Amino acid sequence: MDQKTIIGLEVSLSIPPHGCPNACWHCPQGLLVSRYPKDAPREFTLESLQRCLETVPVSRHLAWTGFSEPFLCSDAVPIMLWAHQRGHTAMLSTTLRGITHAGIEKIADLPWKCTVIHVPDAEGWMKIPVTDDYVNLFEHAVKAWKHHADFVFGNYATPHPKLLPIMEASGVPIPHFGLHDRCGMVEGLPHYRHTGRIHLCYKMFCGNLLPNGDLCLCCDDYGLQHVWGNLNRESYTDIYRGPKFRAFLDALKDPESTVLCRTCMDGYKQGFDPDHPPYLDQP
Ligand code: SF4
Ligand code: SF4
Repeated sequence: MDQKTIIGLEVSLSIPPHGCPNACWHCPQGLLVSRYPKDAPREFTLESLQRCLETVPVSRHLAWTGFSEPFLCSDAVPIMLWAHQRGHTAMLSTTLRGITHAGIEKIADLPWKCTVIHVPDAEGWMKIPVTDDYVNLFEHAVKAWKHHADFVFGNYATPHPKLLPIMEASGVPIPHFGLHDRCGMVEGLPHYRHTGRIHLCYKMFCGNLLPNGDLCLCCDDYGLQHVWGNLNRESYTDIYRGPKFRAFLDALKDPESTVLCRTCMDGYKQGFDPDHPPYLDQP
């Protein structure tokens, strides 16, 4: 993936009442569901998304990813087309759950900066039925999207045997992604704790926009520990110049602070030398 493109703003297009139905074991959906307000909107409409982006600069790159599969949102395709018309660049990460063949075609020629298909696996980590219809959809998406500038198969386990031949025939490299413990929220994975001052991470300045307009820290904040403000009531600039975000930046310097980033393993991902991760134990 293109590590040079700053993720300007992540958008969680939907938060289903029982969590993302793909229910990958390494994704703390239960925590998210318990913290997201029960009576809040569960997905964006084109209109509600347009309202929230009114004060977001067009220069912000958009990431259609976040806390759940983007195409669970009924308006996902019109939203992506509109955002492109408005002038935003964008990336997409999807399992294809919820998209149609027509939808695949409609967004095929947008100038995506990065496209990730998170692939269902042989182990059953992702609870998605790999039916004949799904296989057809997968094959269609690979054919229609593999010309994108940065097209990636997202594998966390062994690709599902019905999908592997399609992936191999595409000629696209098949990498293996490491699992993320989501800031200590996934049992069974190693956890991390940074001591001392916490170094800056580019996602600190991105935000993850939720269907109710709330803007939280990033796509690792499943517990909604850091909600900076709400784009239905405040402007984007006011939120990032406001007291909550400033207090967060100050807390990064405080060795006693309990900011979420203290438990985030992304320092490893962003370090140039994996044997000497830049975040850990630096004053
Ligand atoms: S990792 Fe992605 S596909 Fe899996 S449950 Fe979480 S949001 Fe859904
Ligand atoms: S350090 Fe981790 S939790 Fe903090 S902003 Fe970056 S990705 Fe999110």
